[in-house]
Amino acid sequence: MLYLLGLVLASGAAVAQPVALVGATVIDGTGASPVPDAVIVVRGGRIDALGPRGEVQVPQGARRIGVHGKWIIPGLIDAHIHFFQSGGLYTRPDAIDLREVRPYGEERQRIRDRLPQTLARYIASGITAVADLGGPMWNFEVRELAASLDVAPHVAVAGPLLANYVPLELVGPDPPILLSTNAERVQRQIASQFEHAPDFIKLWLIPRAGAAPGRADWVHAAVDAASEAGVPVVAHATRYDIARDAVQAGAGVLAHSIDDRLVDAPLLEMLREREVIYITTLVVMEGYARVLSGEAQPLDHELRFGDPEVIATWGEAPHRAPRVAWGEDERREIMYENLRRVHAAGITIAAGSDAGNIGTLHGPGLHLELERMVEAGLTEAEVIAAATRGGARLMGREHEIGTLEPGKQADLVVLGGDPLRDIRHTRQIEWVMKGGRLLDPQEILSVIDREQER
Ligand SMILES: [Zn+2]
Repeated sequence: MLYLLGLVLASGAAVAQPVALVGATVIDGTGASPVPDAVIVVRGGRIDALGPRGEVQVPQGARRIGVHGKWIIPGLIDAHIHFFQSGGLYTRPDAIDLREVRPYGEERQRIRDRLPQTLARYIASGITAVADLGGPMWNFEVRELAASLDVAPHVAVAGPLLANYVPLELVGPDPPILLSTNAERVQRQIASQFEHAPDFIKLWLIPRAGAAPGRADWVHAAVDAASEAGVPVVAHATRYDIARDAVQAGAGVLAHSIDDRLVDAPLLEMLREREVIYITTLVVMEGYARVLSGEAQPLDHELRFGDPEVIATWGEAPHRAPRVAWGEDERREIMYENLRRVHAAGITIAAGSDAGNIGTLHGPGLHLELERMVEAGLTEAEVIAAATRGGARLMGREHEIGTLEPGKQADLVVLGGDPLRDIRHTRQIEWVMKGGRLLDPQEILSVIDREQER
């Protein structure tokens, strides 16, 4: 981890000395109109002042950084990721079993060994906070690791997914998914997560023949135990009826778009009344389809920010893999329409990519998600708010991060293009600031490359 030391030495001064970013157009994430030719003063890791030049004074002795002709947005937040998955071909043997090519234990070990680099890739991608919605118990160590590093996002985590079904291929030491189908067992499972102060409890509710998993006793037991401790319950429930039942049982977050039928007024009313947060994950199925078709062509921003060794595995998809044309999948249009309806109903939306799943990379995944959200019909400003304030609300940290306002943490991204004109400009990342530290994505990426070559 020598490289981290180098980056901190290069940027450490910025934290003590006030910094003024001068001349950019600032999009503050609150939904307010952009402020052209703005000044942002950062002091002690926080935003001290922000406004049009002429109204905000650059303090004496401040390090002045000219960002004329640039745009500044709050640090992006991916509201749904999984650190225990790489985004590569071998990371979900329950989806495609290639364990004889690469044993699952080897894949998991590689992922753990690369965590510092994966965390740094998030920062290089302009993502200053992520929510890991479920994985092995070592997820709690990832949160600690991230908090100890300077080039890492804020990390919130759930422990193992509590599920009504566990794929056999994922069974092993410290499993990411636990069979939770009775109330006593789920109470024990939650108690062992509580020893590590989880940010979320995650339920994995999978449609099985004839079952209504959202109504099960164990789901109620899980929600009761979590609510008592004030921990939000996140439900993986992509089907309308399962999502409705889970919310009825008390889940406060839907981890995915509903994709089997259109959401209607009664469900929307329930989501609004209960202040449920709706996470999008429009790209994850597309990622599987791209890679398993055997024809994945990495996109420019994936090649720039993604792990090249992970991307290389996409080309190893065997010909026996199923061929799926995602563009023809009717679930896409249902998810798009549901996103429009959820948005129109005033429900909080958080942008989440489900990064780590096959074909969805840590870092680049969120940028593709934002593009799909615009395709679905949200404006660029609404999408940016979902990827900043929406994510902060999910993490319970809206008072600290997610928007650019005096008193909040100085987490921001300097862009070379206007993201309100084209959301893909969120990929034109020139600088990333986290907690007042100004970091150069190009420098981070070249250090990661050197590290990975060792
Ligand atoms: Zn997920």
